[in-house]
Amino acid sequence: MRKPVSAANWKMHKTIREASEFVAGVRSKILDVPQVDIILCASSTVLFHIAADADESGIEFGAQNCHWENEGAFTGEVSPEMLLDCGAQWVIVGHSERRHLFSETDEDVARKFSAAVFAGLRPILCVGETLDERQSGTTSEVIWRQLNAVTSLTEAEAFDRAVIAYEPVWAIGTGITAETDQIEEAHGVIRDFMKNVDEKLADEIRILYGGSVKPTNATELIEIAGVDGVLVGGASLSIDSFMEITQAISEHYDKG
Ligand code: PEP
Repeated sequence: MRKPVSAANWKMHKTIREASEFVAGVRSKILDVPQVDIILCASSTVLFHIAADADESGIEFGAQNCHWENEGAFTGEVSPEMLLDCGAQWVIVGHSERRHLFSETDEDVARKFSAAVFAGLRPILCVGETLDERQSGTTSEVIWRQLNAVTSLTEAEAFDRAVIAYEPVWAIGTGITAETDQIEEAHGVIRDFMKNVDEKLADEIRILYGGSVKPTNATELIEIAGVDGVLVGGASLSIDSFMEITQAISEHYDKG
């Protein structure tokens, strides 16, 4: 069985004090959810602090973006090596806000994925279609294209330590959650794509769902075939709602 993931994407939220309080809250409850991998994806300004605070707690930390070079004249950018140095184990690449608000291309995402793996970080690769793409019936094609850009640049082994998150753009931050059959189908597209890369990898890789995950829908989402966890934006800002979601995932896996 694939170990489930509960990942928080705090986006551009939380000062050092707020982030530290959150981590202390997770620490106090982590023993209730031993079978879930908890990953907190924070802004680079707080990562060092919270990763040092959480030493040996079992909580894992991630950044939300990185550059593809390890150093150089790239004002304002942060490299994979710097993130690793701050205590991050993970980095989100290809989040739809990066793709659509900051015009990152599939090729940019592929370069970031590759650089992250090369530096020793574990990528959380986000893929997903816009509303227009869904309505025009091109969801599978879009997911395939986004994945293909990454596998064209990296070896299959680069995915050994990665997770993939299916995040339909129209469900992110909108309060609208994708329907069960839409999620099952998209996760199937991703797993089938990975089968073409490597059968064993396709069996082992964890595929998360993200898009308006809340305590009230977490159980329903984790029960969908092929969903190995969640990537949570808005509802991860409150310790109570994030831990309720994590608890729901844990209970599902307790039931076997
Ligand atoms: C996200 O930003 O990755 C996300 C899934 O956001 P939300 O949960 O707010 O839809």
